[in-house]
Amino acid sequence: MSTQKYTIPEVQTAAVVQKTGGKVQMKHDIPVKQPDQLAPGECLLKMHCTGVCHTDLHAALGDWPVSPVTPLIGGHEGVGEIVAIGKDTADSPVKIGDRVGVKWIAYSCLNCEQCRKGLEQNCYNVKLSGYTVDGTFCQYLVSWVNCVTPIPDGIESEEAASVLCAGVTVYRALKYSQTTTHDWIVLPGAGGGLGHLAVQYAKYMGRRVIAIDGGQEKKDLCLKLGADAWIDFTQCKDITAEIKRITGGKGAHAAVVTTASSSGYSQAVDYLRDGGKLMAVGLPAKAKLEASIFFTVFKSISILGSYVGNRQDAIEALEIAAAGKVKVFYKLDSLSQLESVYDLMGQGKIAGRVVLSMRDKN
Ligand SMILES: [Zn+2]
Ligand SMILES: [Zn+2]
Repeated sequence: MSTQKYTIPEVQTAAVVQKTGGKVQMKHDIPVKQPDQLAPGECLLKMHCTGVCHTDLHAALGDWPVSPVTPLIGGHEGVGEIVAIGKDTADSPVKIGDRVGVKWIAYSCLNCEQCRKGLEQNCYNVKLSGYTVDGTFCQYLVSWVNCVTPIPDGIESEEAASVLCAGVTVYRALKYSQTTTHDWIVLPGAGGGLGHLAVQYAKYMGRRVIAIDGGQEKKDLCLKLGADAWIDFTQCKDITAEIKRITGGKGAHAAVVTTASSSGYSQAVDYLRDGGKLMAVGLPAKAKLEASIFFTVFKSISILGSYVGNRQDAIEALEIAAAGKVKVFYKLDSLSQLESVYDLMGQGKIAGRVVLSMRDKN
């Protein structure tokens, strides 16, 4: 494979967490895997940018029951261009120079039972970006030609980055919510990173949206994005009653719960109408789902876990965004700012998404 177009350095800058719970350090001497070292099927990306997600913070803190690899290079919503492809790679769907994305599911084998059924995210041989393999908080990243997501024209890399994780996740949850046009969907956390995308995908799909979040800034954002109703959880005393009122007494058809608190989940069983679907999407580290079994049965409620998305979900979510139907609101920073982004994120002070650029000097 030709790589004349690109000069590939021996070392690069990356944001590294030596030990979970430790600080993020900018390291400038991280080796770059050279083109002749790539295995068949592997590709090398020169990164443009990466989103920062709550998952990255959980990984850095070691919050989850499964530990990440250390030293950890986090990040799982990155966009870059292919600068090399491993030799003897057969039938590559992408070529050198293509703009592609790396998502949380860095690799799935495409051959196991889960992959064959389209559940690539549950592949028995899965590799998770920024968790079990190096992630996108770096300048050069090794990925796999069959697993990168081609980025369509019409969307900036910075915008595409957030679609690759938050966008794909909420898009798939909505797609599998068994709702139809004009149905009511409740979106707790609607003003957040996942939520603000969920509002737009839901509206694009013709659903009616009840946005729940707190504060004027998030209210303005949700209504601007087309939410049909707004509930401020910091002021509303009875969210279930309010949702019933908005939906003519019957309750909502579905809820896509992206929040990290357990109350957001258990409450949904109360405010969903009979036959309602609770799509569980957030990944709180320890919270338990305490739904009323009686009412889950009596109301024929379905509680469904929806975990990120497969390659096709990613392609669809990006196409909708590239067609201008979904806008990502993000703040652009540089990779070296990761530590302070984590601080703000830990305090819940980030509205929308943060994207870090690798195009400037870090
Ligand atoms: Zn993410
Ligand atoms: Zn598989």
